[in-house]
Amino acid sequence: MNAEDLRPLQQAKLGRQLDYLIARSPFYRDKFAAEGVRREDFRSLEDLVRFPFTNKEELRESQQACPPLGRHMAADMIDVIRLHASTGTTGVPSFVGITRKDAEIWTKVTARSFYTMGIRPRDIVIHAASLAMFAGGLPVKDAIELIGATFVPVGTGASEKVILYAKALRPSALHCTPSYAIYLADYVRREAKLDPRELGFKKFVCGAEPGAGIPAVRAKITEEWGARVTEGLGNADMVPVIFSECADQSGMHYNAQEYVYNEIIDPESGEVLPIEAGVSGELVYTSLERECVPLLRFRTRDRVTILGTSCKCGRTSYKLRCVGRTDDMLIVLGVNVFPSAVRDIVSSFYPQMTGEVQILLDRPGPGVKPPLRVMAEYGNGGQDQAALQKKVEDKIKSVLSVSAAVQLVPAGTLPRFEMKGQLIKKLFEE
Ligand SMILES: [Zn+2]
Repeated sequence: MNAEDLRPLQQAKLGRQLDYLIARSPFYRDKFAAEGVRREDFRSLEDLVRFPFTNKEELRESQQACPPLGRHMAADMIDVIRLHASTGTTGVPSFVGITRKDAEIWTKVTARSFYTMGIRPRDIVIHAASLAMFAGGLPVKDAIELIGATFVPVGTGASEKVILYAKALRPSALHCTPSYAIYLADYVRREAKLDPRELGFKKFVCGAEPGAGIPAVRAKITEEWGARVTEGLGNADMVPVIFSECADQSGMHYNAQEYVYNEIIDPESGEVLPIEAGVSGELVYTSLERECVPLLRFRTRDRVTILGTSCKCGRTSYKLRCVGRTDDMLIVLGVNVFPSAVRDIVSSFYPQMTGEVQILLDRPGPGVKPPLRVMAEYGNGGQDQAALQKKVEDKIKSVLSVSAAVQLVPAGTLPRFEMKGQLIKKLFEE
């Protein structure tokens, strides 16, 4: 269905979800009362703007005040079949629960997302990501099995097993973070003395952090592995994978039309922006059919840019790219800078630069006094280092409008991360 035809269905479902929230969620009853909004104020999707946002801090407080899942839990514990957790920047886990029906919806949407990314029944998929608590673990197993593909749960910290199984099983696909795709290529060369292409992976399906959609990072993974790279986006609070890329690799399609309603907002003013190519803002999710922990206007802190509303593949859903997370964002003299954007620029100098970077912070962010200190690895080309450093600094200045002081270090100096990359190094005591 196209976006217009979907609206009556989304509207009817959101009305029922609001009835459910008011009946079952003390958290939302209180929030609506505090804001002075009533169920009758929702007559069409346009009225959603009258309802308050939900943010992660509120969910944390709600959970601490009312364990196990918080005052926003709207199902009975007897109906909850599984818990997952996300760890935020604070390190305190935040739990989400799913009922049997929630699990079916998670599986269906996540399967749709993996199908969009190119997974088919014949694929053997090595899962080189966590299976414990992580929403990109067991729900992905369920989704890949629903497609009818073969799920191989290798997990994390097991690169030697990935190589062993790749040789033995000849799998076609690898599911991992983009950081791991790069880490593993280095590992395969160093430890197995193999060209990564010899392992025969044809599809890399990546997620959990921005990167696989960044042109320079994608080019590097493609070059190393000789495989097509597509990426997905979602979260533990809503659905594990809601957006994902098709073979056209031109942004992630919205795949949860009848289960998650999306808004893109101006993160400062909260104003809702139109879903049109070129629009950038924060992604906001509203569940349309959630039982355990339904959320209304949940601010994801994911900063996204809409890339288009049509596609060569024939899907009618709009496409976006995630440019970073507000949690990671730095502000240099009033300019917002995502560490992933710095990595993107440095990666564009590959192979003169390896693409590995770390931003050094002397004091807690997000405010940073210029210049932005960036450590970056040069490649093995034997180039003029002073000129290279200046070229990187100039490109950061011209693309991001901030001045940077780049320190070049030899290839292999910066730490590699098996899970999500750590692009910031804190030089202060926390
Ligand atoms: Zn497409």
